[in-house]
Amino acid sequence: MAKVLCVLYDDPKDGYPSSYARDDLPVIDHYPGGQTAPTPQGTDFTPGHLLGSVSGELGLRTFLESRGHTLVVTSDKDAAGSVFDRELADADVVISQPFWPAYLTPERIAAARNLKLAVTAGIGSDHVDLDAAITHGITVAEVTYCNSISVAEHVVMMTLSLVRNYLPSHRTVLDGGWDIADCVARSYDLEGMHVGTVAAGRIGLAVLRRLAPFDVKLHYTDRHRLPDEVEAELGLTFHASAEEMVPYCDVVTINAPLHPETEGLFGDKLLGSMKRGTYLINTARAKIVDQDAVQSALESGQLAGYAGDVWYPQPAPADHPWRTMPHHGMTPHISGSSLSAQARYAAGTREILECWLEGTPIRDEYLIVQGGGLAGTGAHSYAVGGRS
Ligand code: NDP
Repeated sequence: MAKVLCVLYDDPKDGYPSSYARDDLPVIDHYPGGQTAPTPQGTDFTPGHLLGSVSGELGLRTFLESRGHTLVVTSDKDAAGSVFDRELADADVVISQPFWPAYLTPERIAAARNLKLAVTAGIGSDHVDLDAAITHGITVAEVTYCNSISVAEHVVMMTLSLVRNYLPSHRTVLDGGWDIADCVARSYDLEGMHVGTVAAGRIGLAVLRRLAPFDVKLHYTDRHRLPDEVEAELGLTFHASAEEMVPYCDVVTINAPLHPETEGLFGDKLLGSMKRGTYLINTARAKIVDQDAVQSALESGQLAGYAGDVWYPQPAPADHPWRTMPHHGMTPHISGSSLSAQARYAAGTREILECWLEGTPIRDEYLIVQGGGLAGTGAHSYAVGGRS
């Protein structure tokens, strides 16, 4: 029988919801490109309910306990002697979400003698030390595509919000003001601007598709080029590297995984090569940018705005400098955890567990590490210790 340790974010401050703003969710059974949404044998939750917090339990308790397995759910993950550290010692499976990551460091992996499977209930397994997972023969899986469109929508929202100076204007209303000039002195139209994405995978391409109707000029860089017909359809300009692309852009959006090739990519040098007044949106991972360099670029005016929802570490401390830097539109890490996304990644997590417990293959598209090496999506999109 397996012990499953699930690390989730805390319930709402006012308690687990007893009702919701809407009564149903649209049914999404496949994603752009044809991949099917998760297909577990069953689910024990109501789509649209809060599943990603401790009391939501990703809807897994009945499923696991009825089969004799143990489920431990906690949000206590970082402090010395945390529940996570204590329970990890004999856990077979760890599940966590990028929004509230249970950092599986080499030391923790070495201490987790029974650990065989690390599941990301979402996308992005950089909180797991993949080299250590490979060395210890641990399978790492995530629910590929489950929240890619959720994030793409967030990127579009943040792009418009920064360019049009939405948040300060909303603040004016909350403060009882009507200061039109103050609001519009930093407000522009997106129309005609050059927008570039670093990576055009599931999220990056979805962002390009969603922004195309705004009559912008679209750029991208990626390790692999998109098909000619997609480039032609969206009028895309391909650049061989981020260094080559960013000087052309008014807006840059980062949609690559965090791995050795992308860590620290946006430092003083790359930010300094951008047009003065560029907007930078990062919903990928905080460590792809240099935290201090972003703050300095906002203070100097090199960046006109920075927005995103990814921080390091998470949760961000109350005095994190990004909370108070100028012209930012940060949110906590929420873009991929809408109630809509939660229903998909809870179902995907259950699908992965069903496969693992029954000894049937986990979908290739969900695999990051398996059998002592990168596998599936991991082999395509990640790099480890110089391997890719
Ligand atoms: P995909 O795997 O579909 O796309 C990632 C893309 O990044 C691939 O096209 C890959 O290239 C490309 N890439 C990898 N390395 C580089 C590089 N060095 N330079 C340029 N491009 C590179 O993933 P998604 O689009 O679904 O997600 C992307 C990332 O977004 C995730 O890894 C995660 O970190 C983050 N994310 C954030 C969420 C949030 O809530 N904020 C939620 C979901 C994801 P190729 O495959 O061509 O080699």
